[in-house]
Amino acid sequence: MRTPRALVIGAGIGGLTAAVALERRGWDVTVLERAATLEPVGAGISVSPNAQRALDVIGLGDAVRDLRAWDEVGGLRTPSGRWLVRTTNDVAAERFGGPLVLLHRATLVELLRGALAEPGRVRTGTTAALVDPGGTETPAVVRERTAGGAERRHEAELVVAADGIHSAVRRALFPSHAGPRYARFTTWRTVVDGLDAPFAAHETWGRGTFWGTQPLPDGRVYAYAAATLPAGLRAPDDELAELVRRFGAWHDPIPRVLEATTPDRVLRNDVYEMADPLPAYHHGRVAVLGDAAHAMSPRLGQGGNQAIEDAIVLAHHADPAARMDVALAAYTRERLPRATAVGRRAARMTRATTLTSAPACALRDCAFGALSALVPKVSSLLALRALDGVADWKPPVATYASDSRGTRGARRRPEQEPHVDRTE
Ligand SMILES: Cc1cc2nc3c(=O)[nH]c(=O)nc-3n(C[C@H](O)[C@H](O)[C@H](O)COP(=O)(O)OP(=O)(O)OC[C@H]3O[C@@H](n4cnc5c(N)ncnc54)[C@H](O)[C@@H]3O)c2cc1C
Repeated sequence: MRTPRALVIGAGIGGLTAAVALERRGWDVTVLERAATLEPVGAGISVSPNAQRALDVIGLGDAVRDLRAWDEVGGLRTPSGRWLVRTTNDVAAERFGGPLVLLHRATLVELLRGALAEPGRVRTGTTAALVDPGGTETPAVVRERTAGGAERRHEAELVVAADGIHSAVRRALFPSHAGPRYARFTTWRTVVDGLDAPFAAHETWGRGTFWGTQPLPDGRVYAYAAATLPAGLRAPDDELAELVRRFGAWHDPIPRVLEATTPDRVLRNDVYEMADPLPAYHHGRVAVLGDAAHAMSPRLGQGGNQAIEDAIVLAHHADPAARMDVALAAYTRERLPRATAVGRRAARMTRATTLTSAPACALRDCAFGALSALVPKVSSLLALRALDGVADWKPPVATYASDSRGTRGARRRPEQEPHVDRTE
């Protein structure tokens, strides 16, 4: 009998994780990616313990944990450099069962690509369009168009739409959904080679602005910044000059980071989020995941982490021998409430960190500062409380044996029952 075929549209973090996990479940997987290469756009990405445990299922969790770059002090500061809250990665590890790990996106993409049994099945420079979502008795149909204009039609038992925030598949499946809206802030990101003198990982909150500096495992430094501004604005000269105007007088190491970067290494993106959840994360034989399903504000650092969770839960339900309508309904039931709740938490965090009123910011800083002085232990936990109920998530299975490409290799967590209701 022919091996059931899965087509993954999009080779971002969500699509690649789904491809690896579905291969391990015994699917014949092809990934179609519009970009000419897998070189990811972007800079750093934080991978929290929930996603590390999801990656354990496909044997990659420890590879990520081993890349933990900071153990010492991190926390929250004011633009003058005063610490409001200090914490360490050990506190995070104790609270969530793992450290917070910051990687360059390219490192994560490389780990995922390296875990594919057949990396050649990722076809870059090719755009996919959904022709038919399929039904109980009929396959889904996808049209692939190469950069040269050649077209090819694919039939598949399962299609994974991991085509990102502006997902064309989402629009085709849910045409009346409003889609993403502007989250009221714009971001800058850069990666610089190691700074001469050491620094402590930090995030610094100003009025309607914030800045973060974090070490990467390879010695480079990831910095990000944001400001509450209308969508579509761009610096009149260049984005580095804009950063210098806005953050150049803030505390060390921020001026050093600005000194070490160049205009071509500064990325600027307006942030969009899905305010209203989709009615479902599937239709016919198509599962929607990652930003395509639930783009969220990056204030919790969870967009990519949720895409990884989605992919692992999808593969868990999508046993190649299962009825796809039943499997995908189970996927929606499990993921939609979870990703919606995380997205709402991220939106609340955004409101707290993009306050523009001077009295509100002063009150916020005063409250953090006072708590920190009075009860340092509590305040170090405060910095992490936003991740309670998020970073402690566990996947439905512990692991698929790495040498297995079939379901027999799955080891279920003892406390968990199967999620798929086959009587539906
Ligand atoms: C400033 C900023 C900081 C962030 N920081 C973090 C963080 O620290 N931690 C975190 O977890 N998340 C973070 N995020 C969010 C994270 O980047 C996204 O949630 C994540 O990249 C989503 O992954 P994805 O695979 O769903 O989509 P994407 O990474 O967008 O991948 C979609 C892929 O689909 C391809 N594609 C699109 N259409 C087609 C088509 N028709 N045919 C073929 N291919 C197609 C695209 O080329 C792309 O490669 C941040 C986001 C921003 C903006």
